[in-house]
Amino acid sequence: MDTSFSCVGCGKCCNDHHVPLTLAEARAWAADGGQVIVLVEAFLGNGLGLPAQQREHAQRRSCRVLSGDTDAYVAITFAAYNVGPCRNLDENQLCRIYARRPLVCRIYPMEINPHIPLNPLAKECPPESWEQGPALILGGQLVDQELAALIQRSRQADRDDIQLKEAICERLGIRTTALKGDGFTAYLPEMSALANAIDEVLATPPATSRQPWRFHLSADDIADKVLAAGAHVASDTPLDYAFISLRVA
Ligand code: SF4
Ligand code: SF4
Repeated sequence: MDTSFSCVGCGKCCNDHHVPLTLAEARAWAADGGQVIVLVEAFLGNGLGLPAQQREHAQRRSCRVLSGDTDAYVAITFAAYNVGPCRNLDENQLCRIYARRPLVCRIYPMEINPHIPLNPLAKECPPESWEQGPALILGGQLVDQELAALIQRSRQADRDDIQLKEAICERLGIRTTALKGDGFTAYLPEMSALANAIDEVLATPPATSRQPWRFHLSADDIADKVLAAGAHVASDTPLDYAFISLRVA
């Protein structure tokens, strides 16, 4: 479907949105005094948790790790933790760091995941933003090639950063993941520790992951499948993370 779009500057996308950050952006966010949330999901080497339609995308943004007697592939998102208005949004709904705002802020309302088509109804942008302005999508193709290049940059950073993000998690003691499709584990690391871990890992990139991971699952039936595959399942109450379930009741 052809789509027109023009941002009306309402600022809604700058409220209550955890904005995914590249590693360099996460380091800058820390230097600016912001909080980063770390979201973790993984699928198993036997394919459990790996969505058939998103196989290539999910594999390319994950890195191989160990869990129990098996291997798993973990994907880690560092995102700006925005509860309420973003710390950079001023009283006129303008971005204080506009010239150096994160890639994803430049890409919105487009999707980064190539398997998620743009759905205006699922976006914060008000109806009038879709009723005016230049063509955004024509014949299923994104019109603005600069925007297309930004989306590619974001996807590439996801792939380039994953080994380093995994090593940063190791330094921070982040070792519990959710199963992809079942949920996320969410961590709010102390920001000076995150900044130090980023600096250390960038200075001396590790060769491989050393510490194993374990899984937090939404319910016993899915935990039994993960256990049967040989992976390690967490049984204690989370102390340093929250589990965000995606399970449909
Ligand atoms: S960094 Fe700027 S553009 Fe991005 S969410 Fe914050 S205020 Fe909005
Ligand atoms: S929600 Fe949409 S229209 Fe409003 S500021 Fe963000 S991109 Fe622009």
